[in-house]
Parts: sequence; C-alpha cells; structure tokens
Amino acid sequence: MSHPLSRRDFLASTSAASLASLMIGATPAQPPGPGKPMAVSSANGIPAVTRAVELMQTGLDPLDAAIAGVAIVEADPKDHSVGYGGLPNEDGVVELDAAVMHGPTHGAGAVASLRNILHPAAVARLVMKRTRHCLLVGDGALRFAKTHGFPEVDLLTEEARKIWLRWRETRSNIDDWIPAPEGEVEPAVLEAMKTRITGTIHCSALDTHGNLGCVTTTSGLSYKIPGRVGDSPIFGAGLYLDNTVASAGSTGVGEVNLVNCSSYLIVENVRKGMALKDAMIDALKRVVATTTRNPRFRDEQGKPTFRVNFYGLTKTGDYAGVCLITPAKFAVHDGTSAKLVDCEVLTV
Ligand code: ASP
Repeated sequence: MSHPLSRRDFLASTSAASLASLMIGATPAQPPGPGKPMAVSSANGIPAVTRAVELMQTGLDPLDAAIAGVAIVEADPKDHSVGYGGLPNEDGVVELDAAVMHGPTHGAGAVASLRNILHPAAVARLVMKRTRHCLLVGDGALRFAKTHGFPEVDLLTEEARKIWLRWRETRSNIDDWIPAPEGEVEPAVLEAMKTRITGTIHCSALDTHGNLGCVTTTSGLSYKIPGRVGDSPIFGAGLYLDNTVASAGSTGVGEVNLVNCSSYLIVENVRKGMALKDAMIDALKRVVATTTRNPRFRDEQGKPTFRVNFYGLTKTGDYAGVCLITPAKFAVHDGTSAKLVDCEVLTV
C-alpha cells in the first residue's frame, strides 16, 4: 500500500470534474507565516504529507492541505483501503467514510457509507462549511455531494472486483458458489486473500501559523456488512484535534476506537501534560485493557485479534506514531523532507 504515486498517475486516474470537486469549499491561501509546516500520516501517506507540506508552504490552510494530500491516495487504484480501488462491502459495493477537523474554527464535518464519490474528505469539508450538521450518511450524503457538483464515479476497480469475487466464492463450502481453480486466479488476487485487507489514511497537518487540521478517509474494513460505519468518520474515535493542543488519528479496526474514544483520549492526555508518544501509548493500553472484557476482540489465548495504530502531531511540532504488537511505520514530513519512521510498538 505504501508506494509513491506520481502527479501524472494521479491526474490520469481522476477526471477533471473530480479534480475540480477537490477545491470546492477550500479557503483561499493566505500569506505564509514564520513557522515550519509539518504533516504526519499513516504508512501509505508519503504522497499525502509531501503534497500537504508543499501547499502549506504556499500559505494554504492546514485542513485544505491535508485534504489535498489524502486526495492522492483516495484516487490511487492500487491502494485497496481508501477511495477508488478500495475493497467493497460484502455485496461488492464500495462504501466510504471520511471526516475532517479544522483547528482554527474547531469545525468538523463527516460522511459515512458514501458511495460513488472519489473524494469523500472534500465532501466532509463541505458538510462542515455549508451545513449546520457534522455528519451525513448514505443516500443523503451522496445527494449532498452531487448537489455541490461532485461527479459520480464507479469506485470498484477490476482488481478490487476480482479480489471481492474470490472472497465471495471461497467463503463457504455449503453454498452454491464454485471457486475458480487456483491456477486461473491472478497472483495479486491470491495474495490479497492471505489476510483481511485493512487500512485507511489519516493526515494531521500543522501550518506555518501554528494551526492544525486533520482528515481520515477510508473504504473501511474490506467485505464489511453493508452500512457498517467505522471510526474514521467519528470525531474523537478515528481523529480529533484541539488547535491549542494537538491533532491525532488512527487506522486499524475501528470498533476498538469507537468504544474508547481513542483520538480524543490522546489529545486530552497531551493537554494534561503527557508527551505525545506517551499519550498514544496510554491510549493503546486503554484499548488493550477494555477489550480484554470483550471476547469478540480476543483469540482463544486471550491475545488481541485487532490491529490499531495512532499518528499525530502537537501544536509545538512534536510528532509520533504507535502501534499494537505488529511493527508498523508512519509517514512524516518535518518541513524539510518526507520519510517513513518506525512506530513505537506496544507488546502485550
Ligand atoms: N479504521 C478503519 C475502519 O475501521 C479501517 C482501517 O483503518 O483498517 O473502518
């Protein structure tokens, strides 16, 4: 999932109308301030942090910069966890969740179970700016996006369709589907069957004026029950910021963040004086502790069956990423260059 996507590839994979929709509701750039812009993202976020920092250097608002950054990944057909090319729900339909938060206004907007729209994070920004609501879902979210000029796009790529079909055909031996012989199945499809593909992109950004913005956008858990909404579009769970403190977000099995308000907890921990990394480890420990009481999150040995990672940065430019058990990386741009950094691992 973490591969660079050139501007040419990005432009090729998105129509002029989708590209134009990306700027609907963006704030005109202001003169840049004296600070160094920074951005932090998940491991698939190198193109996102690079673009976000470039734009903040020209004076763009941190949220608009983060949305433009993650839009590269939303349009990337090779990333099966976000936007176009994302793996569909169990009916074979791609359903997207996204949310944004804007530091200077403490504004927030989100969409959930949104179909056929390439840039859900840009729609979430419009929910924030052009409604008195925070979250629109399903058909209502789609109608709202179309009303504002977002074009409908078929988000299911051929590769994602083939992976979904393989999943469907091999699900049970007591139904009427007959799986294609393995020799006839493309290697990429067989590879995708080895684990349940998860992923998402989060991006937290700090601009040259010291303002924060953040976004989380995803196609959610692959093969999810239609209508399932994860943590990504839920403030406090899949993302949260306070412009005076920090910004944080998550990828992984969203349900554990929904029941723990993890992103909110991280920001509140920093507010109370914890270093960002410690604030995140504390939130991970909370997730581990509370999920021991719920067998659906544990295997027979009592080990967590879920993956969860946190990423973020503070108002003062401290950044961190943490993960549970399985090593992972996160993307950071410190104003000079973009790099992948190891997350701090919590073992249990
Ligand atoms: N957090 C996302 C969700 O639960 C999925 C992921 O990040 O893997 O929908």
